[in-house]
Amino acid sequence: MAHVGAKQILSEAQREGYGVPCLLAGNLEMLIGVVQAAEACNAPLILAYNAQVTPQIPLPLIAPAMVKAAEGARVPIATILDHGADLASIEQAIACGLSTVMYDGSALPFEENVRRTQEVVRIAHAHGVDVEGELGAVGGSSIELGYSQARSEFTDPDQAVEFVARTGVDVLAISFGNLHGLYDGAPDLDLARVRAIAGRVTTPLAMHGASGLPGSAYAAVIAAGISKINYYTAMARAVTHSLRQALATAGETDLVYHRVIAWTTGQFASETRRLLHLLRQSLETST
Ligand SMILES: [Zn+2]
Repeated sequence: MAHVGAKQILSEAQREGYGVPCLLAGNLEMLIGVVQAAEACNAPLILAYNAQVTPQIPLPLIAPAMVKAAEGARVPIATILDHGADLASIEQAIACGLSTVMYDGSALPFEENVRRTQEVVRIAHAHGVDVEGELGAVGGSSIELGYSQARSEFTDPDQAVEFVARTGVDVLAISFGNLHGLYDGAPDLDLARVRAIAGRVTTPLAMHGASGLPGSAYAAVIAAGISKINYYTAMARAVTHSLRQALATAGETDLVYHRVIAWTTGQFASETRRLLHLLRQSLETST
């Protein structure tokens, strides 16, 4: 259908009251699986590349496949560099043809985050590329588990208003108790803070670390004002689990590698269908 910027997809989701998953497309199995699911559910999708999770896969190699998949899909798809750390990686992602870049300056002091994000927005918008910024640190890790989050790092609503106005970002990632990776016990999400921010900025809001919430939590997070749902760890765990079971039944002399490719592609597709169902409950109940 169309390879579009994240802003277009998320603005529509904001209006209609559903969430859009942002899923890693670090290799072809992930990419093909998640796009198949989006088409099957007739749902838009954001395909992400994260250099920390798949450093073995160079962006210039996988980006053309992400862009081709988006261009050929029957649903709108955005492509994004997840957690761009510096200007060089942002410029590389733009050169590779991604429709959106995330610049993560959340570890910097406020003024420095504003200044560097402004620079990214200036460069990206000159190329017609959307920008996601982050304000308030979302802790944790998608590849190492066992973190907790200090409330002092939650996004301040007044600062969010100022950050959006001064930087002109198209999407804002916020911190309200969400964590990358898996939660240690039940997540303690400050949804009143999400509502306070969503009530004062029209920019779509992103939740990183949406893995492993109870199923009922997604509708509440979306109702509070989140449109972009970054999701990886729980999906990777489910795929790993099914792969382990499949390998356990394979014989020592079986050549299973090509079946591993088929299994993982199918598992990423079925996990994505399950997630899309959770994120689009409001649509399914109203039709
Ligand atoms: Zn993230």
